[in-house]
Amino acid sequence: DLFTFDEFLTHWAADRPDRPAMREEDRLFTYGELEERTARVATALLAAGLQKGDRIAWIGKNSDLYFTLFYGAARAGIVMAPIGWRLSPTEWAYVVNDTKAKIVFTGPGFDAVPDQLAGKLEHGPRIIGADEARTLIANTARASFAPSGQDDAVLQLYTSGTTGNPKGAVLSNRNLFALRKHSNEADMPYTKWEDDEAVLVAMPCAHIGGTGLGIMALAAGLPGIILAEFNPDGVFDAVEHHGVTRFFMVPAALQMLLMHPRCASVDYSRLKYILYGAAPIPLELLRQCIKMFGAQFIQAYGMTETTGTICMLPPEDHDPEGNARMRSAGKALPGVEIRILGPDGQGVPTGEVGEVVTRSSNNMIGYWNLPEATAKTMTADGWIHTGDAGYLDEDGYLFIHDRMKDMIISGGENVYPAEVESAIFGHPAVQEVAVIGIPDQKWGETVKAVVVPKPGMSVEEADIIAWARERIAAFKAPRSVDVIEALPRNASGKILRKDLRAPYWEGYE
Ligand code: ATP
Ligand code: MG
Repeated sequence: DLFTFDEFLTHWAADRPDRPAMREEDRLFTYGELEERTARVATALLAAGLQKGDRIAWIGKNSDLYFTLFYGAARAGIVMAPIGWRLSPTEWAYVVNDTKAKIVFTGPGFDAVPDQLAGKLEHGPRIIGADEARTLIANTARASFAPSGQDDAVLQLYTSGTTGNPKGAVLSNRNLFALRKHSNEADMPYTKWEDDEAVLVAMPCAHIGGTGLGIMALAAGLPGIILAEFNPDGVFDAVEHHGVTRFFMVPAALQMLLMHPRCASVDYSRLKYILYGAAPIPLELLRQCIKMFGAQFIQAYGMTETTGTICMLPPEDHDPEGNARMRSAGKALPGVEIRILGPDGQGVPTGEVGEVVTRSSNNMIGYWNLPEATAKTMTADGWIHTGDAGYLDEDGYLFIHDRMKDMIISGGENVYPAEVESAIFGHPAVQEVAVIGIPDQKWGETVKAVVVPKPGMSVEEADIIAWARERIAAFKAPRSVDVIEALPRNASGKILRKDLRAPYWEGYE
């Protein structure tokens, strides 16, 4: 069984040297070329004095150059830390300082980074631009090196920062290829690949939903089609012209595809599977997607700390006619344990809500430089506390309610924002909605909906409340509705509830 970047690259280069490995616009690299180029990267990094366990960073959009540098470094056990390009220079500096990276690579179009970081760094990394990096790869003669082992760290991926400062989750070769191993062992046709498939990398490489998809292509020996950044036209072109058969999107991105004028006229006949996840999806949005794309849908649930997916909701549970399972995040993958714990830390009975905890070879090595946070999140016997509230049904399906922190306690009743949002989302005038708890003298908290209307439409508070009350219990329905122009979201498309809540809680928290 293959378990490291070095093994996969060597294997595919021997097995299929002339087949495409990655493509970005008009640049196409075969598996033979990718193996050679990544060997040169490993050689060049070691020659520059880096050693196994050292960090390098990437500031830039998705790029074949990023994946080449990452895979090359990983072969030698040098750890890549991709940094979200949408962050501000101050935030870049925070992460670069946190990593102690010896080299910061910048992507095409990011030549101003050295100036933008000037005066902000605590150590003196080399900063290498995209042209310089490409030249370095072209001019390096490969030498032999000691490849990294299964349990060596190769990727340091920062969490999305939805609930606080992003934390660097350190992931090993084994972590990153565990999903493939687990799904190969499972009887799941949708994780088996045909020979003519291609994977789209459309989400940002600083998140597991971007980098992880590139790795899925490598693990399957298939081409990864790289989009520098998500945009509907890029996705449609990749589906129509580059043979993309699978992609992963967050719900917010799926909605942008649906709203695009080109969406209904694209030829989706080659598209087989759409994976979605990273945030709760409103049921109505999922129904609209199933109707529009015709592909098979798979929900993925997981977190950066678990190297992405630990649960999948298979296509057969996607019945647009209101199958209750469609609200589930799916079943644990083979090799993944999931339990639900009550406030006392003991397992709760089937069907009862508690904190989701999980154990598998997907679980990270730990957080970088945060021993306390690591100890709080990971138990000594290897369980990760997800911070998500959910329950398991009799058949082992996991239903995610929300983050524990986002739960609203109103008059002693627990309300989960995602359920309320899903109910309101179907309203014809609502484009986006987020639900938060706001302080209330009588109830402790009450439910507030913050709504973005569809272009040219207006929403009435009473109307939204009535709509919700027809669909969910009265205590879950919002007591008040505010209208705003856009919801605050982070680069992974997640709603930043802490920012939404802040003005209402001033003076309370
Ligand atoms: P931070 O940990 O920095 O606050 P984050 O938790 O958003 O940010 P990620 O690791 O990118 O960072 O996201 C993992 C979280 O995303 C999960 O804990 C869960 O709350 C949410 N999530 C992932 N998949 C799903 C899904 N299918 N349905 C609902 N929520 C999901
Ligand atoms: Mg998290």
